[in-house]
Amino acid sequence: MASLNNTVANLEKNYLFTFVHEQKNQRQNADTIDLGIGDISRPLIKDIAKAIEEAAHGMTTPDGLRGYGPECGYPFLKEAIRRQIPIYSSFSDDEILINDGIISDIAKFPLLFDRHLKIGLQNPCFPPYFENLKFHGLGENIVEIPCTPENHFIPALPKKPIELIYLCSPHNPTGIALDRDQLKQWVNYAKQTHALIVFDAAYSAFIQQENIPRSIYEIEGAKDVAVEFYSFSKSAGFTGLRCGFVICPKSLTVNSQNKQIPLCPFLNHEKAISTNGVSYPIQKAAEKALCPSVQAELHSHIHEYMQATSHLLKGLSSIGYTCYGGVDCPYIWMKTPHQLSSLEFFEKLFSEANIICVPGSGFGTCGEGFVRFSGFTSYQTAEKVMERLYRMRHLCDS
Ligand code: PLP
Repeated sequence: MASLNNTVANLEKNYLFTFVHEQKNQRQNADTIDLGIGDISRPLIKDIAKAIEEAAHGMTTPDGLRGYGPECGYPFLKEAIRRQIPIYSSFSDDEILINDGIISDIAKFPLLFDRHLKIGLQNPCFPPYFENLKFHGLGENIVEIPCTPENHFIPALPKKPIELIYLCSPHNPTGIALDRDQLKQWVNYAKQTHALIVFDAAYSAFIQQENIPRSIYEIEGAKDVAVEFYSFSKSAGFTGLRCGFVICPKSLTVNSQNKQIPLCPFLNHEKAISTNGVSYPIQKAAEKALCPSVQAELHSHIHEYMQATSHLLKGLSSIGYTCYGGVDCPYIWMKTPHQLSSLEFFEKLFSEANIICVPGSGFGTCGEGFVRFSGFTSYQTAEKVMERLYRMRHLCDS
């Protein structure tokens, strides 16, 4: 008889985004405004769609046929990444590993390490980090790093030792980004303690302020202590296409039997045995997304998302809500009024204004008492949201 792994059997099945999806599917109507899970709302850029069509069409010919590709991605895409994203220009093919987006790769990353290692997670954080650690029986290894209004949502260096730390900047869900000095502190900490940083740069393309690094490799010494995950999902509208990559510098070493050895070959090996790579047409689409002309269109999408976010942020604040983020990231982290729980506010907003947000408690215990609004919407929709929230402004009255 096949018995289910006990850890898996005992997992609570209350995954945040499944809950929000279910609520939406059960209750939405034509008038519902979805500022929930943070999916893109601008249609795919035509040149990207054309690149997929051409690649697929090419595969119908003997010369253009592509079967299994290299597990860690085609050299043409790695070359485009080096050419178009200057901070990655010095990384070799072995150090750039193409994946089908951050989520599947980042979740497996801790499996490369000793099962006793302590893993620092920002609380609140992107739920798949802790859901996957729990799924793999590593829930007890988590060391929570609170990000609250008291510390301006900036993760403080931990008092307890950690060997692996997940840092996400700009941060989902609070929308706050680490500046150069704050990130430098973490790089120095990792150097001193031989910890490894898993840097999630999913929202780097949305950064507006000069002093906010778009990549951890802007910080001196980071190549020795950090892997970085990048995604085309939000930066190029690929949530439905699926492509991203992880950078694992050769200079990054880890301990193995009391010797320091490079991690990069092990990550390449892990991919070689666990994936047959991302499809050729999608990698051609990602290459196209990096072209300067397409980048210009993508910048205008990002600009529109950030304009909508800024409009929401101003509107919510003018009604009297206390809000954070929304400057370098299209997420607004809002304190619920009158000590309503995250779920109570989610419920009120859905039932009274037909607007979907995300209850902050699903991102971790420090998210209780907050909700997250996604700014992946249009300015016009943001206006509608504000009209509805203005009508409900009594919620904020003291
Ligand atoms: N990392 C963070 C912080 C995210 O918010 C998201 C998506 O919302 C992801 C990763 C997932 O990225 P991908 O679509 O590349 O799997």
